[in-house]
Amino acid sequence: MSIIVSPRLRAKALTMLFVLSLYCMFACAPEKGVQVNLIPEPVSIKSGIGYYKLDSAKVMKEGLDSFVHGKIDFSLKDIGEEGYILSVTPEKVELSATTSAGLFYGKKTICQLLTSQGLPCVEIKDYPRFPYRGMHLDVSRHFFPKEEVLKLLDEMAYYKMNTFHFHLTDNGGWRIQIDKYPKLTSMGAYRVEKDWQKWWEGSIREFCSENTPGAYGGYYTKDDIREILRYAAERHIKVIPEIEFPAHSDEVFVGYPELCCMGKSYTSGEFCIGNEKTFTFMKDVLTEIMELFPSKYIHVGGDEARKNEWKTCPKCQDLMKKRNMKSVDELQCYIIQQAETFLNSRGRTMVGWDEILKNNLDSSSIVMSYRGQRGAIMAANKGYRAVMTPGEVLYFDWYQAEPRTQPQAMYGFSPIKKMYSFNPVPTDSVVAARNEELVKSKPISPDTMMYIQPQNAHRIIGVQGSTWAEFIPDEEHLEYMIFPRLLAVAEIAWTPQQNREWQSFKCRVNTHIPQLKQRGIRPFTFSDEMELTTRIVSDRKGVEVTLDTEKTPVEIRYTTDGSEPSKHSSVYEQPFILNKETLVKAAIFKGDQILGKVLEKQVSVSEEIKNYYEYHD
Ligand SMILES: [Zn+2]
Repeated sequence: MSIIVSPRLRAKALTMLFVLSLYCMFACAPEKGVQVNLIPEPVSIKSGIGYYKLDSAKVMKEGLDSFVHGKIDFSLKDIGEEGYILSVTPEKVELSATTSAGLFYGKKTICQLLTSQGLPCVEIKDYPRFPYRGMHLDVSRHFFPKEEVLKLLDEMAYYKMNTFHFHLTDNGGWRIQIDKYPKLTSMGAYRVEKDWQKWWEGSIREFCSENTPGAYGGYYTKDDIREILRYAAERHIKVIPEIEFPAHSDEVFVGYPELCCMGKSYTSGEFCIGNEKTFTFMKDVLTEIMELFPSKYIHVGGDEARKNEWKTCPKCQDLMKKRNMKSVDELQCYIIQQAETFLNSRGRTMVGWDEILKNNLDSSSIVMSYRGQRGAIMAANKGYRAVMTPGEVLYFDWYQAEPRTQPQAMYGFSPIKKMYSFNPVPTDSVVAARNEELVKSKPISPDTMMYIQPQNAHRIIGVQGSTWAEFIPDEEHLEYMIFPRLLAVAEIAWTPQQNREWQSFKCRVNTHIPQLKQRGIRPFTFSDEMELTTRIVSDRKGVEVTLDTEKTPVEIRYTTDGSEPSKHSSVYEQPFILNKETLVKAAIFKGDQILGKVLEKQVSVSEEIKNYYEYHD
């Protein structure tokens, strides 16, 4: 198996573990036995003493399957279809599950446990929190070759993720061979400018043929797709294809201008809804897609239609009159409904971005919430299944560190701690409590409710990290944006909320970064920035200050007397309490050297206490 770490690196990792256990103290101190660093954290784990001896060189040569067999046991309770039970003692390794997927995940855990000494003794019972554990990839704005997709599927599987949302079409280029419409790829898959922003905002925003000198782009042939699907299936990953309707389709009209309202290329990004040919095209393309993809779920986009041309297009206006539609919004609902009916008639289920909630949807359809969490909350309360991928927390194309230190990204800021802190089913939050109060005083409709009613919580089927590729020009940068944040999404999706804790995850993810590199991934390796947070301690006595970093183990030194931190300043070991106004200065040290910037923050103790009690009294 390619995922097994080399002995040299393992020895290094063990040294690191030792150092870690010294530095992390209470945060990730081993309870007993051997420290393990599993991601995602299992439902229950008991560490024992000692190892089951496994010859790591032999494992590397012959693969894990020749050592660990695992058995399917239908009588197992409470672990569902993807769970497993693993028991490692010095004498034997026992792995059992109710399906081959469960055994697969059990083996992934074994891979993560393996050290140069063998397998540490553990008892693990494990199963996922959500059935949908997804990653989305936009291959339109920039194209990523098949090999990169396979590499990502390997990493998804390693972290027990099971759904790959393949965003195959958008205004940056059409990326999949469709036999009936060859001009989609011969005319809409290449452009002369690679840089998306330069191209999109420049004077020549046009596509070109593959043979044009300097042409940038590409597409997957049907054989490429079959290979990707086979590879994914072997790793228990479902692939959901997305074909965008009715918007984000500029690239379609280069070869088939008759499908947009003006009948001319580069005049619109939206299909003409009044034109019957649009629906012939949609059904033809979706038919070829369904022939290729076994996925029950087919994504049809549905987002961000501007609807400008529909207002004046004679064909669109005719359809509105015929069907007694009051606004162009109903044209959007009309095409989504056509897609839904067609997919359902073929035994498939429609998935769409949260705009599809404007439709009177079939009860089977799935809503993907990207404009915040609102779409998923509303969908669940109305009885639909929903996937959480709110832009403000789960987009991999947002900045992961101070923007001035980073290559250009989308405007938002989603460092790994923020991403990790996301709970996809916030029924237990303060918001929920406030809303309950409101519900008691007057009824609230599902449209305005800001929380998921507990009885609808099960309709949130999962969570997805989404990768829009406008500012991601190549594979190296793609990996830099996705990793290690993907590990946070994997743990959100798998681990029970009560088992998730930032300090523990932080320690574990730091041990996974060298492993990612060992497997050929080029991750972001965390910044040297520090975060200072405060919390009011009881009895209005003071403010507790916490200093945090993404990297660990690190040495933080700090002062509270206004002086610059030096190698002689106090070492930060745990949160400390301030009783009066204080200027805190802190820095990360490597020997005598300060890494990154010195953090300076005036902690206004009396003000913080005053504000807190004004709000809470
Ligand atoms: Zn039209």
